[in-house]
Amino acid sequence: MSTKISLTDQFIDLEHQHGAHNYHPLPVVLDRGEGVYLWDVEGKKYFDFLSAYSAVNQGHCHPKIVEALKEQAQQLCLTSRAFHNSAFGPFAAFITEYFGFDKILPMNSGAEAVETAIKIARKWGVQKKGIPQEQAQIVVCNNNFHGRTTTIISFSDDHAAKKDFGPYTPGFISIPHNDINALKAVFTSNKNIVGFLVEPIQGEAGIFTPDENYLRDVQQLCNEHEVLLIADEIQTGIARTGSLLAVCGNCNCESACLRQPNTFAAPDILILGKAISGGVYPVSAVLADNAVMDVIQPGEHGSTFGGNPIAAAVATAALNVVKDENLAQNARKLGVLFRNAINEYIKTSKIVTLVRGKGLLNAIVINDSPESDTAWNICLSLKENGLLAKPTHGNIIRFAPPLVMNEDELMACVNIITKTLRAFEPN
Ligand SMILES: *Cc1c(COP(=O)(O)O)cnc(C)c1O
Repeated sequence: MSTKISLTDQFIDLEHQHGAHNYHPLPVVLDRGEGVYLWDVEGKKYFDFLSAYSAVNQGHCHPKIVEALKEQAQQLCLTSRAFHNSAFGPFAAFITEYFGFDKILPMNSGAEAVETAIKIARKWGVQKKGIPQEQAQIVVCNNNFHGRTTTIISFSDDHAAKKDFGPYTPGFISIPHNDINALKAVFTSNKNIVGFLVEPIQGEAGIFTPDENYLRDVQQLCNEHEVLLIADEIQTGIARTGSLLAVCGNCNCESACLRQPNTFAAPDILILGKAISGGVYPVSAVLADNAVMDVIQPGEHGSTFGGNPIAAAVATAALNVVKDENLAQNARKLGVLFRNAINEYIKTSKIVTLVRGKGLLNAIVINDSPESDTAWNICLSLKENGLLAKPTHGNIIRFAPPLVMNEDELMACVNIITKTLRAFEPN
């Protein structure tokens, strides 16, 4: 009888029958969230250790962000930008001041913001650098993740994301991440390069943090060769890695001090998404100074929902929470505790080879082949033990809890993780 089927299975079955199979979720059906916690439809409580791929840095259903959403939704939701609205101007002033740029171009999803940055860079190349029409090249990194549009998958080397979706968009050159000589070589040999699009820490690839001086050297090379440095901080930004942006480097202040001496780099184009809204509403943004942004004129780019009043209100509230609650500082502190605790475990472990990351963007590498299902099985077991995480690239498990976590909660999570891993150790 159908009454014997669990609620979980009923929901999964509906999704499976009527939803495209473009994801392979863990078999858990979430129904409610608050702060660092999630509850499934059976009422079981979990620690969230993914934070919707770092969109929920401020914690689930943050009351201040939800309140901003409710208030704005009752007043005005959408005008399109055929008209001005009373929310976008103040938001534009707020976010440009917050991150230290002249202008914002608002979009909705991360991939759209990346597309926007690509268009700006190409047009800038033609208009300001004198690159011949249709010759502009953008340098990207191997193993990048910038989204799933047709153009973006054209320069991905993720087989699943790319295969059978051609023809692909030309104009991209891929080099290894964290390889300054490769960047120098490509800049020297090709005069049509307009931008270098880079994740300061590669997220989806498995949390790869480059050498200390990499981003600084990148910045210098870009300046020398008149190439725009385009930082995709959709996953690494908004306090996730222990500073407001990953390009802020080891700077301990709570703002985007992009022009300070101890920052790694000051990108010409900054791409933000995910936690810019605290996971409450799809908001993304491209930030740049006038010399770059002003190449875009009316009719050349846009989005019906981009810069809508709800997005403006939600993102303002979400960014205020980051500062008011010192989330960068908390991520920095807890990140160190987390890696120390996991490293302690690794000393006697055969199943985990290493933990790496920065702030609260971390990953462990499982001692098995990328094709094995060990990491998946560990995540299933973590779920049973009350913690939700997901493998990335086979044998890597990303750990990225909401940044509103406290030390006691983090230690409770470490206990769940180590207890779970212990059951996978060979005898
Ligand atoms: C998630 C992500 C994107 C894509 O964002 P969507 O909102 O899923 O389109 C792009 N770049 C990076 C680094 C990301 O982590």
